Amino acid sequence: MDFELSQEQKAMVATVRAVAQDRIKPRAMKFLDGTFPWENLKDLAGIGITGMAVPEEYGGLGLSVLDTALVVEEVAKVCYTTAMALMPQLGVQTRILSQYAPEEMKRRIFDGVVRGEYVLAVCMTEPHAGTDIPNLRTNTEIRGDRAVINGVKTLISKVDEAQLFVVFTRVGKVPGREGIGCVLVDRDTPGMLRTGRYHTMGGEYLFELTFENVEVPLENLVIKEDGLKKLMNAFNTQRCLNPSISLGLAEGAFEEAVKYARDRTAFNRRIGDFQGMRWKLAEMYRDIEVGRSILYRAAASANPYPDPQLAALAKMYCNEMAIRVTSEAIQVHGGYGFTDEFPVSRFYRGARYGTLGGGTTETLKDLVGKKVMADFPADGFLGMGLF
Ligand SMILES: Cc1cc2nc3c(=O)[nH]c(=O)nc-3n(C[C@H](O)[C@H](O)[C@H](O)COP(=O)(O)OP(=O)(O)OC[C@H]3O[C@@H](n4cnc5c(N)ncnc54)[C@H](O)[C@@H]3O)c2cc1C
Repeated sequence: MDFELSQEQKAMVATVRAVAQDRIKPRAMKFLDGTFPWENLKDLAGIGITGMAVPEEYGGLGLSVLDTALVVEEVAKVCYTTAMALMPQLGVQTRILSQYAPEEMKRRIFDGVVRGEYVLAVCMTEPHAGTDIPNLRTNTEIRGDRAVINGVKTLISKVDEAQLFVVFTRVGKVPGREGIGCVLVDRDTPGMLRTGRYHTMGGEYLFELTFENVEVPLENLVIKEDGLKKLMNAFNTQRCLNPSISLGLAEGAFEEAVKYARDRTAFNRRIGDFQGMRWKLAEMYRDIEVGRSILYRAAASANPYPDPQLAALAKMYCNEMAIRVTSEAIQVHGGYGFTDEFPVSRFYRGARYGTLGGGTTETLKDLVGKKVMADFPADGFLGMGLF
């Protein structure tokens, strides 16, 4: 069992850390108003990060899920918005496109993705169906050499910035999970309308999109059936990247808390010298290291996608851990922690997203609980790997 990162991984993390600390950290506050961090994506593209998940034949680096998770963690330590902005390049959209998109489209799209200029939005959630995605209603009809889309999507990220929308849809009104496919829609396609806009506590804007007879070439219908199963495989990658944002936010908040506990005095002592405060720091540190272990294990299981159960455990744990740790970091800062003068409140706002996106905590608990009930061997013991 080897718990060490490779020399290449350590070098990569050090390079990303330098860019994150020197360039991204000083700019982090300004993204709370919904500004998109294009300049940060450019800086990350400059060191190859936006092309990490793109296959080598399309100009990317084709690196592993663990490599991408390490990078996202490093970026989230300083800026939630920038870590979220990396999701399309490193996450489910790129993985789906590299597997299913037509060759010409891949060449066109991935070149821009690698350069940090092309953003991909993913549209799954609908007003009545978020967790209940098997019951989505958006429908695509095949009419000759065209695909025609009708429906409503909501809570969609990066609508202002995206050049391409990866839309999950029913095909030909076929009911159930098997009837779900995936269609690619270029921005500014007639009939794709922004019908709602929401500002989040994390800073970004989310949108409602209405599709009214949106016509695209039939070749854009990249998955015609059983798309949910195909989506779920790729989604286990997202279930490692989403908790790597949580882990990074918890670490960023912890670093700030330690600094503050050393600098701030009360009753003529550093607050970090009070036992109550030392225990708090010890518990935060413990929880971060537990999260790191399960997350790296889940990410390292990828072949090519991570083990679903490990990914679910890692996501559940890291998401909840980050809410606790970032909240405690505010507590360490006292009243100043609640202001914008210190970054800890920003870390907390970002951490609150984790349990909601990419599979809610409740859904993941359900998934793992079902597996326990179905497959845990009657005479089984834990500890020798997964059951
Ligand atoms: C910052 C942010 C960015 C997002 N970006 C995107 C995006 O780009 N594209 C996209 O498609 N979506 C996006 N979403 C939407 C996100 O995927 C959904 O919010 C999520 O899937 C949950 O769906 P919902 O909000 O409809 O909640 P619901 O599904 O209505 O759930 C409400 C509550 O009920 C619980 N619940 C539901 N079913 C069960 C069950 N069976 N057992 C127990 N509890 C249950 C949930 O866990 C939750 O607590 C984003 C959300 C956020 C916050």
